[in-house]
Amino acid sequence: MTDAVIRLKPGRERSVLRQHPWLFSGAIADVDGSPEPGSTVEVTDFAGAWLARGAYSPESQIRVRIWTWEVDEAIDAAFVALRLERSIARRRGLDPEGRTTAFREVHAESDGLPGVIVDRYAGFRVVQLLSAGAERWRPAIVEALAARGDVQGVYERSDVSVRELEGLEPRSGVMWGEPPPSRLRIEEHGVAYQVDVCSGQKTGFYLDQREHRQRLRRGLGEAEVLNAFAYTGGFSVCALLGGARSVLSIDSSAEALELARENVALNGLSPECCEWIEGDAFVELRRLRDRAASFDVIVLDPPRFAATAAQAERAARGYKDINLLAFKLLRPGGRLHTFSCSGGVSAELFEKIVAGAALDAGVPAVIVEWLGQPADHPVALSFPEGRYLKGLVCERLA
Ligand code: SAH
Repeated sequence: MTDAVIRLKPGRERSVLRQHPWLFSGAIADVDGSPEPGSTVEVTDFAGAWLARGAYSPESQIRVRIWTWEVDEAIDAAFVALRLERSIARRRGLDPEGRTTAFREVHAESDGLPGVIVDRYAGFRVVQLLSAGAERWRPAIVEALAARGDVQGVYERSDVSVRELEGLEPRSGVMWGEPPPSRLRIEEHGVAYQVDVCSGQKTGFYLDQREHRQRLRRGLGEAEVLNAFAYTGGFSVCALLGGARSVLSIDSSAEALELARENVALNGLSPECCEWIEGDAFVELRRLRDRAASFDVIVLDPPRFAATAAQAERAARGYKDINLLAFKLLRPGGRLHTFSCSGGVSAELFEKIVAGAALDAGVPAVIVEWLGQPADHPVALSFPEGRYLKGLVCERLA
């Protein structure tokens, strides 16, 4: 079953003992055997005592991703199926009202399946296999996801650059069953959206913002809303449902804005309350400032600026820039819902950046809410890297 033994350098077993799932190349003393990418390896300390069992990835700095710390647990198709089942079962209580049909069923490392993402969109599953180990178990994963008999199809969206770090080609297409339609209808808290899982961003929708979209609806009154980085209009639709008088949405993707318009109509909302700008938000926010525009509520949900801490400085400049502009556009008493999905920018750093932006904008403001990840995007306690999404609701003092 096992191809090789990875022996760690003296003292480098500490992270493994704390059940951190990643083993970096620098921690390894020697490799006994010649494991293939994705094959199962045993991990021992320098003295040879068994620690864990994981997937080998010769091209990645993350040389081993650990599957188990239980010496009796074999890594095979049954193991993969059991982990998938457990992860999916844990989502069962999340939608007691039956008004949400899209959620993340498997959140990789934090669900005990490093490199495996499974998102559920109504009658379809969309899968990303992001590591050599995940790739190795592709047939078992597809079989287990199909065998549940609860979807019409399983579709792959592993067309992401992180696969290159693992020596894997991008891949997408039908894995099993029917191809998804180009417009797949889902619901979140009873709000309907069309999702393009085949060519949309990520696996088609930013499921991680579900609760924050819902949050935006509360206490909006007849607000005039600005939604920057709107994608397919999730926050725009929720603003209108919350009673907003108007929503101006900005995104650089024409395809996303096309879907956003459809999503407004799908929920029976008036297109007259909507204005759409296809453009660079950094430029468009400046334009709005230059013509002294102002809003009651602003949403800033930019794409990831920094995946790792090494890129944090550049990212910080980006966040500072857009948040400063947003504070200037915010009316007294108004609210800014500002987000960062950069894993490389900590919640503390993000808060500092936003504080600096308010200060430089000359806008007195308070934080009224701290936002994080929903329950279907859990963070394993042994894997703080799983925390990436954070948000602040800031109120400009009147
Ligand atoms: N809030 C959205 C998700 C936003 S994802 C939701 O709830 O669904 C980030 C979005 O920013 C993407 O739609 C991407 O197309 C857009 N984007 C990336 N760079 C941009 C830029 N410089 N200006 C405007 N939009 C940008």
